[in-house]
Amino acid sequence: MTVMVPSRTPAHSITPGRQALDSALHQLAQAAEGLGLDEGLHAMLATPRRSLTVSVPVRREDGRMDVVQGYRVQHNITRGPAKGGIRFHPGTDLDEVTALAMWMTWKCALVGIPYGGAKGGVAVDPGSLTTRELERLTRRYVNEILPLIGPEKDIPAPDVGTDEQTMAWIMDTYSVNAGYSVPGVVTGKPTTLGGSLGRAGATSRGVQIATMAALDRSGDGITVAVQGFGKVGALAAQYLADAGCRVVAVSDVTGAIHSAAGLDVAAVRAWVAETGGVRGYREADALGLDELLELDVDVLVPAALEGVLTAANAPRVKARLIVEGANGPTTPEADAILADAGTVIVPDILANAGGVIVSYLEWVQNMQAYSWSAGEVDVRLRDLMEGAFGEVKSLAADRGVTLRDAAHLIGVGRVADAHRMRGLYP
Ligand code: GLU
Repeated sequence: MTVMVPSRTPAHSITPGRQALDSALHQLAQAAEGLGLDEGLHAMLATPRRSLTVSVPVRREDGRMDVVQGYRVQHNITRGPAKGGIRFHPGTDLDEVTALAMWMTWKCALVGIPYGGAKGGVAVDPGSLTTRELERLTRRYVNEILPLIGPEKDIPAPDVGTDEQTMAWIMDTYSVNAGYSVPGVVTGKPTTLGGSLGRAGATSRGVQIATMAALDRSGDGITVAVQGFGKVGALAAQYLADAGCRVVAVSDVTGAIHSAAGLDVAAVRAWVAETGGVRGYREADALGLDELLELDVDVLVPAALEGVLTAANAPRVKARLIVEGANGPTTPEADAILADAGTVIVPDILANAGGVIVSYLEWVQNMQAYSWSAGEVDVRLRDLMEGAFGEVKSLAADRGVTLRDAAHLIGVGRVADAHRMRGLYP
């Protein structure tokens, strides 16, 4: 049996989405080999269980109607309901969403939460829409994917280009259709609608926990560069600074800034809130976006999109530790180059798992109609992150493999075990 590649794009046409899917399939193939999976099970794991493509009509303010493409992919639902964010980004496509859904499957299995993996996407630039257009788009997209989602079926969450407000509209649209309030249908909601304390900063907090676990020492004297000063990166920079690290460079779509003495991260966040980007921040020097990736720092945190560290720039990366706040920021070619150079990479499915961990805690609270304190949420997040980190580190040491390989061996292995135990119907 051959492993079907779930893509509409021919393998020779290398779009960013296709590249992400190729990376995900490559990682899976490595894990399948390491685990000795048979071809049929490998094929099962290489293909999403359900993929839905929808055309979403949006009424613009001037009365015009635009139609944008949307997706929801459930890669795997063997260990529990499908779980994963919804991305609004002009570059998103079915391949990218499929790759991201696959990474969610391994991530949830790795940190031991009872979910399968999913992802959604709408190929749109949310910055180009008014708030009312964005609301109409969100509600219509949710209507189109309504047959797939539900608190026991598939639970969306924020991702690139979506936030608490988007989740509130999704919760409302689903609830109005159901005829009653269903807070458990999405996570990352505002706390007034059943969102969990600690969810907003959870991915960043997880990045901090993973970084400190990998450093295995205090943050004093540790220099950090963060690529992508957005939802995940800005708070990761803040939490790393709080842990004593010196954040010397950050970037976003507007540019990159550098200060050898260390940035006042809170002041940079205030500047971004005021001006919309890091560019022009006065207490730092401007830096090229590529230069940031190649800075001589102890820790590099890519926290934006996929495919940032490539065969072209990996040989020039000087950081000894890379902590992947983003999903899929390192291509397999870059991964091999960095591994040969002895660079330690805390892989995405471990490093950025804090978000889905607190999503799970939010969903558990919703299902019980109960809420926990910020302290209780943080203790559970820390336990799950540190537990998963310890397992990955010790398997990597035992088998002499990278942290990424070990993380995939564990994540893929658990999903494969669940498939074997359940058997195949009919
Ligand atoms: N979008 C986040 C991720 O990639 C969070 C997903 C979730 O909370 O379901 O992990």
